[in-house]
Amino acid sequence: MKDSEMFVPTPEAEAVQKLMEMDPFEVIKATAEGLGLVLNDPKPSCKHCHGRGWVGRNAETKEPIPCTCIFPKYESQRPTPNILPMNRKQRRAAKNKK
Ligand SMILES: [Zn+2]
Repeated sequence: MKDSEMFVPTPEAEAVQKLMEMDPFEVIKATAEGLGLVLNDPKPSCKHCHGRGWVGRNAETKEPIPCTCIFPKYESQRPTPNILPMNRKQRRAAKNKK
């Protein structure tokens, strides 16, 4: 038996091979788009990824690990918007107060 016959490529192995050939940032972007996320461009001055947008690979799946600088800020980090009164009368009253 030849060495080359010992390994029959599984679909998983082929997927990993494809992943290794692709640009890691493109892989991350495609994954994010699939989840409905819009990513920022990597920061060229980022201490973690140095503008690559990824910091390494998962040892098992070979999936690139995205850097935090490409994720938009989470909702919770935004300033809480002022909650406006809902009905017209309340809104008018609030407006007159200012
Ligand atoms: Zn980064």
